[in-house]
Amino acid sequence: MRIIWDLDGVLCNTYETFCVFLEDHHGIKAIKDQKGMFEDRFGITSKQVKELFDDFYKHDQELLCPTMSYARDVVSELARRHEQYIVTARPKHTRENTKFWVYGRLGLSIDGVFVVSGADKGKFGQAIGADLAIDDMPHHALEYKDAGIDVLLYDAPYNQHQEGIGRVLSLHDVVRYVNKW
Ligand SMILES: [Mg+2]
Repeated sequence: MRIIWDLDGVLCNTYETFCVFLEDHHGIKAIKDQKGMFEDRFGITSKQVKELFDDFYKHDQELLCPTMSYARDVVSELARRHEQYIVTARPKHTRENTKFWVYGRLGLSIDGVFVVSGADKGKFGQAIGADLAIDDMPHHALEYKDAGIDVLLYDAPYNQHQEGIGRVLSLHDVVRYVNKW
């Protein structure tokens, strides 16, 4: 089986590193007890989120992100029987850093790393013949679904509104799903 993994918010714990960056580099602090998307948590606009992420990548902060819990173990385990690819919507200039992070943190179990920026992930998944994709962003999950690719939405506070897509609460849930496939 050919599996596509998203990186940020699925295998890579980008969220906390981004929060530290916002505070250290921009003096933007989370609003106490506020949950949800960055917009809600920090009281900023979507345009600002995008600009701040651009700045985050400009400062090579993606290299500092830890993996999600058990990410390396899970991709190693699945690698025994499956092909696995990373497809991330990060900006193109992060390609080398992203590959460095993936092979350094997740090991050599990953068969390919694709930084597709603004491209339709569903079309890209079709092009590489993917059977299953795991993503935390509803719009990307829907792109895969529309492309006829089986998709799992990785649970996050900011995707609770999305219905109609299978949801996983942990990377171990993904393994269980793949083993039953
Ligand atoms: Mg993501």
